[in-house]
Amino acid sequence: AKAAGRNTACFFDPAMAAAMEARVALLAELRKARTLDQLHLHCQPVVDAAGRIAGGEILLRWEHPDRGWIGPSDFIPLAEESGLIIDIGTWVLETACGLLRAWETRDWLSPDFFLSINISPRQFRQPDFPGIIHTAAERAGISPHRLKLEITEGMLISKLDDIVPILAGLRAAGVRFSLDDFGTGYSSLAYLQRLPLDQLKIDRSFVLDLHHDANDAVIVRTIINMGQSLALEVVAEGVETLAQFEFLKEHGCGLFQGYLFGQPVDTDSFGAKLRAGTRL
Ligand code: C2E
Ligand code: CA
Ligand code: CA
Ligand code: CA
Repeated sequence: AKAAGRNTACFFDPAMAAAMEARVALLAELRKARTLDQLHLHCQPVVDAAGRIAGGEILLRWEHPDRGWIGPSDFIPLAEESGLIIDIGTWVLETACGLLRAWETRDWLSPDFFLSINISPRQFRQPDFPGIIHTAAERAGISPHRLKLEITEGMLISKLDDIVPILAGLRAAGVRFSLDDFGTGYSSLAYLQRLPLDQLKIDRSFVLDLHHDANDAVIVRTIINMGQSLALEVVAEGVETLAQFEFLKEHGCGLFQGYLFGQPVDTDSFGAKLRAGTRL
């Protein structure tokens, strides 16, 4: 047991105290991770109905010296809570813009190729969020239309009047927006209609059970129809089987992401895929 008085941990149940200490330690390590070059970007292809690469999603990874690779679900919440996500998020954005620049220079990108970047609620609420996006694109010398920012329903519930101008302003500059994990929140059609979006992403939990759960099949078809009525692109995530792909295609889904088409890979490997694609 820790010496009494060192902290207040002795008032908690020991398991909880240990968990808290572990979190504090992990946060201290995460603060140093970027300067130690431990954060890496992976990229997963997004394909069209013909299986051609239409874009990619940037996914963060932490290469921890003792624990090995840590997935974002195990540290993004901590980064979000502590505010560290602001720094990390800006770095992700700048690095992604740099990749686009490098691939564009080599002539590996089709005209409509995009990179999707996950934006956390805290990042979106930064006072100069649009400025940060513009600066990153400008510095890298890339067209903003190559950036697709993924936001979630959760961050849009508060004050639509504050959010719509931010989305609209960036969209006017060419940046595109995708609503991630769609179906897990509670957006109505009327609500969606007010948001200047370009894309809906069907949450992978619905795709997973498509052929075993009649409710999920209905939800997926409804989301595709909603997307079509609002003239939005629809992406299905978590596509792992040919049967899922066929069902989604048949019902009008236009873009697909999942292990069936490729796992997230390091950005050099992704670049190699793009390069091979242009040589077909
Ligand atoms: P997400 O945005 O829903 O990302 C998709 C997740 O599904 C990724 O997990 C991806 O590896 C996984 N996935 C893709 N295809 C399949 C499939 O066919 N089957 C299964 N079972 N899984 C698949 P990952 O990389 O662990 O990321 C988890 C979450 O962390 C992401 O969920 C996203 O919300 C967040 N995240 C990742 N990178 C960033 C980032 O740079 N910034 C922020 N704020 N969040 C990030
Ligand atoms: Ca995402
Ligand atoms: Ca998602
Ligand atoms: Ca289900």
